[in-house]
Amino acid sequence: MSTKVKTRFAPSPTGFLHVGGARTALFNWLYARASGGTFLLRIEDTDEARHSEASVAQILDSLSWLGLDWDEGPYFQSRRIEIYREHLERLRHSGAIYPAFESKEELEEMRARALAEKRNPIYDRRSLRLDPGDIARRHAAGEPFVWRFRVPDDGATQVPETLMLGAAEGSFENAAIGDFAITRPGTLEQPGMPLYNFVCTVDDALMGITHVIRGVEHLSNAPKQVLLYRALGFEPPAFTHLPLIMKGARKMSKRDADADPRFPVSVSARRDLGYLPEATVNFLALMGWSHPQAEELFSRDALIANFSLDRLSRSNANFDEDKYLHHNGWYIRHLPPADLTARVRPFLEQAGFALAGRNEGWLAEVIALEAERCKLLADFAPALGYFFVRPTEFEPKGVKKFFADSEALGRLKDMAAALEAVQPFTRAGIETAVRALAERTGLSLGALSQPVRLALTGRTFSPGLFEVLELLGREESLARIEAAQALIPVA
Ligand code: GLU
Repeated sequence: MSTKVKTRFAPSPTGFLHVGGARTALFNWLYARASGGTFLLRIEDTDEARHSEASVAQILDSLSWLGLDWDEGPYFQSRRIEIYREHLERLRHSGAIYPAFESKEELEEMRARALAEKRNPIYDRRSLRLDPGDIARRHAAGEPFVWRFRVPDDGATQVPETLMLGAAEGSFENAAIGDFAITRPGTLEQPGMPLYNFVCTVDDALMGITHVIRGVEHLSNAPKQVLLYRALGFEPPAFTHLPLIMKGARKMSKRDADADPRFPVSVSARRDLGYLPEATVNFLALMGWSHPQAEELFSRDALIANFSLDRLSRSNANFDEDKYLHHNGWYIRHLPPADLTARVRPFLEQAGFALAGRNEGWLAEVIALEAERCKLLADFAPALGYFFVRPTEFEPKGVKKFFADSEALGRLKDMAAALEAVQPFTRAGIETAVRALAERTGLSLGALSQPVRLALTGRTFSPGLFEVLELLGREESLARIEAAQALIPVA
């Protein structure tokens, strides 16, 4: 009998959603969508000290921006403490866990000694040897303790892991696991908060998760969770641990956060730079998965149609910034003009350009001028600024070349006169007029265009001059040509 697939994304809200977390969310979402299953969102917020509501909001916002919609949740673990306590009671009754009273310092010392003696630094079961009277005395005195899971002495724990281990290798020696804590320190009156491996297992089991897909850094948790599943009488899910994401030779981490402002690790900062969600999803899908026909650019629907877990790779994935940018540029170039305009608009507004009263069709044409070149939405504002603000600075090397002398002045004046007469003021009409002027004066189109380009844009490089003239309009173009004349020294 096949059960319906149910996956989950279970972030700890300690900060923003980073690209690695987004990749995990994406693969869970994709697998659910590809198999007609359910995708659930669970916020793992039992560590009160490190969690914030702002972080939850930002994670949800980033997931929504990526289009990774969830069918269930968000569940908050902080609101499920009673449930965990019930299951903890079950483990206590069955003798699967025991209280351990060692202080942090004692545990550190235990660990240091084991390492010095080249032993596996696992818990030495000191508290397991306490007699019941001793335990009762310590409880009565309010001594803090944690609950530890009693791992079987020998044998191995089989982990149903489909990627990193594969069926044959999915076996962990119990003797090497160590009795792990499932709560923070607490007392009988004030129980310690339950810890990740335990709450995660309880939730995955109660929520009916069939496939756990997450980063490889959680692989060592899998045998502990399987032991907990068994002790609680639940069937473990299938685990898939995704390969590391590398940036060059280093593991990409939340901690190299925003070291280079061009390459932030948070999804929201990527959005603010003008990465598109489509490009981000496409790019992240390639961090550990490959398309059956080795395609690099694919729509979300094509991705869902082609996604399967057996095309995941165990090898580290390489976060190639050039590729991400290239993908983004491709998506920008392929957006319908109205859609591109809507997405660029906030970036123009943020740059302080007055858009009120600007015709939408005009704006779309202006934006289309740079769609081939801009790889990020944020590139449009600096590229198109001269459409909104008259330039006050002019490229010095252009000034030297094109605003040099009375000859340059003459060219600007001739162009102004020609433009004055163009009727209607369209790119085709302008082109005809400028070509006629070139013919008449024997000057090249370039020689006539460059001074005007500099006058209009402040730059020596811009989209086609006829388009720029048309979109700036006759009046504004002539005013700029007039203003530029004052910059030309006349002997
Ligand atoms: N809260 C854990 C994390 O953010 C979830 C790990 C898991 O998916 O089991 O890393």
